[in-house]
Amino acid sequence: MNTIRSYKKILKKINKLGPEMRAMSNKELSSLTEVFKERLRKGESLDKIMAEAYAAIREAASRVLNMYPRDVQILGAIALNQGKIAEMKTGEGKTLVAAMPLYLNALTGRSTILVTMNNYLACRDGKQMGELFGFMGLTTRVGVPESAADNFTLEDKKKAYAADILYTTNGNLGFDYLSENLGATKNDRFMRPFYYVIIDEADSVLLDSAQMPLVISGTPRVLSNLYDTADFFVSTLKEEDYELDLKAKKVYLTDSGIDKAQLFYAKENLYAKENFELVRHIILALRARMLFEPQREYVVEDGQVKLLEGNSGRIIENTKLRQGQHQALEAREHVKITQESRAMASITYQDLFNLFPKLAGMSGTAADNTAEFIDTYGLDVVKIPTYKPVRRIDYENICYYNREDQIEAALSETVRVHALGRPVLVITDAIDVCEQCSERLLRDGIPHNVLNAYNVAKEAEIIKEAGQKGAVTIATSVAGRGTDIRLGEGVDDLGGLAVIGIGMAGNLRSEKQARGRAGRQGDNGTSVFYVSLEDQLVQDYGNEKLQKLAKIGHGRVKTRVLARQVKRAQKNSELSGRDGRISTTNFAESNKAQRTLIYSMRNDIIDMEKMDVEYLLGIQEHVIDRFLAQKKEMPTGAEVVRFILDHICYDIESRPTEQDLCDKENIKKYLMDVSKARLEAQQKALKNKGRISYYFKMMTLKALDECWIEQVDYTQQLRLSVSGRAYAQRNVMYEFHKESHNSFMRMIENVKVKMMRNILLGEIQESKDGTIKVINP
Ligand code: ADP
Ligand code: MG
Repeated sequence: MNTIRSYKKILKKINKLGPEMRAMSNKELSSLTEVFKERLRKGESLDKIMAEAYAAIREAASRVLNMYPRDVQILGAIALNQGKIAEMKTGEGKTLVAAMPLYLNALTGRSTILVTMNNYLACRDGKQMGELFGFMGLTTRVGVPESAADNFTLEDKKKAYAADILYTTNGNLGFDYLSENLGATKNDRFMRPFYYVIIDEADSVLLDSAQMPLVISGTPRVLSNLYDTADFFVSTLKEEDYELDLKAKKVYLTDSGIDKAQLFYAKENLYAKENFELVRHIILALRARMLFEPQREYVVEDGQVKLLEGNSGRIIENTKLRQGQHQALEAREHVKITQESRAMASITYQDLFNLFPKLAGMSGTAADNTAEFIDTYGLDVVKIPTYKPVRRIDYENICYYNREDQIEAALSETVRVHALGRPVLVITDAIDVCEQCSERLLRDGIPHNVLNAYNVAKEAEIIKEAGQKGAVTIATSVAGRGTDIRLGEGVDDLGGLAVIGIGMAGNLRSEKQARGRAGRQGDNGTSVFYVSLEDQLVQDYGNEKLQKLAKIGHGRVKTRVLARQVKRAQKNSELSGRDGRISTTNFAESNKAQRTLIYSMRNDIIDMEKMDVEYLLGIQEHVIDRFLAQKKEMPTGAEVVRFILDHICYDIESRPTEQDLCDKENIKKYLMDVSKARLEAQQKALKNKGRISYYFKMMTLKALDECWIEQVDYTQQLRLSVSGRAYAQRNVMYEFHKESHNSFMRMIENVKVKMMRNILLGEIQESKDGTIKVINP
């Protein structure tokens, strides 16, 4: 607890400054912002002015929001400025805590962002804290549209990112970052260089959301006819033909499976490069049949495959699995195969947040994952003491053999606690359990709320009321995170909120998050989980013996050994989640290096004052050299003409003479002359320097982007394709990076060819009014 002790020293200083701040007029107080900025400009460090800045914003909060940040909140604020994750329980007031370091860091004039997990929370907190920052003379913006119907234009984005302090979501920030790097001109840019970001609900954003990379989809891919045959092929396989690892969510062909595939598709070597697409489709089909459970992961409705949300079982509308997995499921279900779109740009949250020089986070549940936070994000976790001692009683899990007895027991407990007048929050692990509970309570005549409308704002409203006397609320574990439950009149005396969980939570964090719904800020409260051997989690991650026992036993599990094994399933699920994230990060490694390079190249091009003609001639020479080097024999006249038509111009003024064609040296000279002449003609057609440079830039960017998007899409697919080769498991990552690197090298060559083609073959037409039109090759 050394850290906390050092924080307390700073806190003392801040507390001492309190009276001085209180004595100031509003005007004096807010004018401190300018004073601090000036001191920073003169070279003082943030650490140096932190105590005064915190004292000032603290006083302002008390005047504007009628909330005076408590001592423990100041401790949290210090941790956040140091770039740590502050673990502070639900209801401790993290929104206000974040306001202090946001204020402090925004004084630098650099980009200062708060990221949270959904639009509702970004809007709610941005609005509330915006009042405070406004009072102190700083601007605040919310970076997401308030309702889905609102459109967010480029101008809106520019305003948002220009604000001193921005509230947004992780998804939005990621997409903004990727789309900014699809822009073609300086005017398309809207972000400032990243500086400081605080991530609210950090575990949810940095761990739960970080299982898969963020992808911007582009144009549809040409519809593949391989899905149906792959599905048919997979349906013929026997158990020995594939290896299934449910825990790691992996499936791949064994040697006998590979033999069958080679026979079925009449291929000599399935893993030869030219069969890449085929392997990808077989893996997709295997995964579709082995790893996806109908009714649990997806349903078929109106002839469409619709995904279900993991925690709640709700249908997620308008969302498809990526990279062909959705199409493979459609093939399995024999519904119409929809279009698959290509990946245009992609980044993992790990890479996104590591772009920030200064990163901090806060969450009620983070300390259990400290090692991972340090490894992945360099973020240490500091546990901040609660404002009041926690009085909640967390009971041990109560374990049953089967689902029926488990739910029955949980519901009688609900009825019993309800009869005392205490509010009850029932948290289930599946949507159908929600419904089951609801029916049962209805029969008993107990009024209750069920959270199954997928509407975050509405859920937050209901959750907020869940602490009223006699309230019964049934929800899934994810519902209403970020909204704290205040107790109604007299409820504390009755024993506070009772959290009753049904089903083992996927990890210790979610379990603690659920339990932590009760007992906010020293309130009374209890929490307990009813689990069973039939819980999905136990079925998936527990040992097989448990699954068998589930069918035999009745009532409550009495032996400790069994109960412990159930707990073990949770641990396994947790490890599998972590492995998934590590693998996502590892796969992203080469993408990251390549993206960094490409983005900086793009920026150089966009920022370039004018395009160097010598440089372009260099590219042309390179492409011509390669053309000649790839030919073992002397190219024929026809081949040289073909090269010109493909790369330089469509009408050839002087065809190559025999003299030109007599050796490679001469061919090169001839081709260079032709392309030089063409380059000059293009410049002439464009007339003025401004246009010439704009044209060169656009054509170069176009070449770069086309090739890069192809590369992004290819590596996304490659990931799947190599993971099907798990029989040589150790080499999967190596193979992936090797091929990713090779294809990147091919891509760089391709960019040069495309640049040459775009610039030389682009047809420039001038219309009567003097405007220029370009027809792309
Ligand atoms: P958390 O994010 O930690 O769960 P919130 O930021 O949502 O908590 O705050 C919970 C409640 O506590 C809010 O209603 C907030 O207005 C209130 N609150 C926070 N800090 C203070 C304070 N210093 N004084 C009074 N109320 C506070
Ligand atoms: Mg919060």
